[in-house]
Amino acid sequence: MKQTVCAYCGVGCKLEITNGALKGLKCYPVNAGMSCAKGISQLKTIYKNRVLEVKKRDSISDQFEKSSYEDSLKYIAEKIKGTNPKRVGFYLSGQMLNEDYYVANKLAKGFIGTSNCDTNSRTCMASAVVGYKKSFGADFVPVRITDIDHANLIIIIGSNPAEAHVVLHNKIKKAQKNGMKVVVIDPRFTMTASIADIYIPLRVGTDIDLLNFLAQELIKSDNIDREFIEKHSNNFDEYRDKILLLDSDILLESIGIDRELFKHFYELFVQSDNIITAWTMGLNQSVQGVDKNLAVNNLHIITGQINKKGSGPFSLTGQPNAMGGREVGGLSTALAVHLDFDEDSCDKVSKFWNTNRLTKQHGFTAYEMIQQAEKEELDILIIAHTDPIYHLPNRHFVEASFKKIGLVVEINAYSGSATSSYAHIQLPVVPFGQKDGTQTNMDRTITRVKSFEPKDGILQDWEIFARLGQYLGYEDAFNFKDSQEVFEEYKEMTRLSINQHLNIFEANYQSLEKSPFVWGEDTYKENRFLTSNKKANLFFIQNDNLSEEPNKDYPYLFITGRTRDQWHTGTKTAQLKSLLKHKALEFVVINCLDAEELNISDGDVVEVHSRRGKLRAKVIIAKINRKTIFIPISHKEVNYLTDDKLDPLSKEPDYNHSAVSIIKV
Ligand code: SF4
Repeated sequence: MKQTVCAYCGVGCKLEITNGALKGLKCYPVNAGMSCAKGISQLKTIYKNRVLEVKKRDSISDQFEKSSYEDSLKYIAEKIKGTNPKRVGFYLSGQMLNEDYYVANKLAKGFIGTSNCDTNSRTCMASAVVGYKKSFGADFVPVRITDIDHANLIIIIGSNPAEAHVVLHNKIKKAQKNGMKVVVIDPRFTMTASIADIYIPLRVGTDIDLLNFLAQELIKSDNIDREFIEKHSNNFDEYRDKILLLDSDILLESIGIDRELFKHFYELFVQSDNIITAWTMGLNQSVQGVDKNLAVNNLHIITGQINKKGSGPFSLTGQPNAMGGREVGGLSTALAVHLDFDEDSCDKVSKFWNTNRLTKQHGFTAYEMIQQAEKEELDILIIAHTDPIYHLPNRHFVEASFKKIGLVVEINAYSGSATSSYAHIQLPVVPFGQKDGTQTNMDRTITRVKSFEPKDGILQDWEIFARLGQYLGYEDAFNFKDSQEVFEEYKEMTRLSINQHLNIFEANYQSLEKSPFVWGEDTYKENRFLTSNKKANLFFIQNDNLSEEPNKDYPYLFITGRTRDQWHTGTKTAQLKSLLKHKALEFVVINCLDAEELNISDGDVVEVHSRRGKLRAKVIIAKINRKTIFIPISHKEVNYLTDDKLDPLSKEPDYNHSAVSIIKV
């Protein structure tokens, strides 16, 4: 039986292929036979709009001409040799396998000498990474998907798994049938909210106020875990004193809900023995994204709701291998295997890779690379499996900046990305079904990705990066025979990590085919945090209201999110009629009273303007807070509107809080 893993979301469902069709694998613990429409659709599009030829052009106003891997990679190598490494960038993706990430990261940071090697995961979960590191001392998710079966309460905040993580949502519904309660906190009444026992329609941007208000009530009524706080946390006294000084009436007014609703939530919270909080972009994609994560972590620390079955703060990853990218070192703020750029780590990594060209400082993050381009300080950008023109905020700025980059290389399996219009070289790679290697899902489960179709002369990402390394003159360092050899080197490297949970060196590539490997599984239940004194850190956080404020010209706030069955830029999913049956791709959700005020009816087309750009979309009148609108990321022009403020620590953009106006057309 042929088996592999889904290449879409971070749940990481294992799939089997029988008679040319995909279905969920029954004996796999993560999905137990379940899958979503998107997951099982992957074979149907495999040969449509594939990129199958290497193409090259001197200027983006020229037509592409046919090239070869050899010619194009030698050309890129020559350009890199003639450029300051600090002016070279790698823009990777949470859809790359661990082996692809490993070789790209080794090449960029170890041999070219640039740490401008970041990933599109920067735009979805970098705030969670920083939050975990600050609170618990390591980038480590202390929850497993199976913990849902043991929780009494799950709080879903800023996340819509019913559309974005369908199999996870089905697990939540099953647990709910067995008695678990579900609280959904979201300014929009989502598909997930429709199953909630309590739905809290908080105002956009007030998550910290709500979490602080809950913490305050818990402390006031002594519904906290004093023993856990005493033994396992730092800074409680200062945190408590500052939380108690907050004015609860002001908090409640800011959140925009009535006291009675909060009371129900509070009572449910204190009655629950095991609590999971799950979140995604609604918290992470914010100018205070790290703070929002810290506010969640604080709650779990003061109540001892962590490191025990059925509890913990659970950052859900959106992409299939966002977690793997973090482990390998795909973020420009990490060196490799959760090591930072301190002297000791740089020495260890230099020795391991046998290089004297290692970069020794943080690089520019995803959006910062574009800001560098705008200043004409980025000469080469190599992009793999992602579409920054489409997904980065403030698109007019991004488009203008891209035009200033001398050499843009796009590595992609499918045509039709917005970025391809800005590329000078297009390099085809193999898609789902032809890749070999491993990927890590949202709960640290590493699974074997298997190819079951011939590659037909098309390379996998790691092979492209390895060949580029060889053309740059580093033959020995990039002389990998196959994906397994890359994995073996990567797993050995995890022995260097200071993150004591990261025991990937114990995994066995061959065994991964039969059973997955979950890293860190035996270490965290002992309440061993990886801070300097092994205790979790509490941080007092306040809502600083740093996002864009509405005014009379832009009176609405605009939020984004995923749409059922669709994936990012839609080069695959938007082609399939079977995946388009639930919703149109380009719509705007408006509250009925706002629609009435604007004289707009369901189905009307409106123009939405922000300070940065505009788009058109069809109106859906549905349950969403007043003066708040929702446009899904499946709307290809959504980022002409979004704000490009960044969280100062995670550098994740503030996608979910832009002020807009609406005009009927
Ligand atoms: Fe794939 Fe996610 Fe659907 Fe599972 S829930 S089949 S991992 S897209």
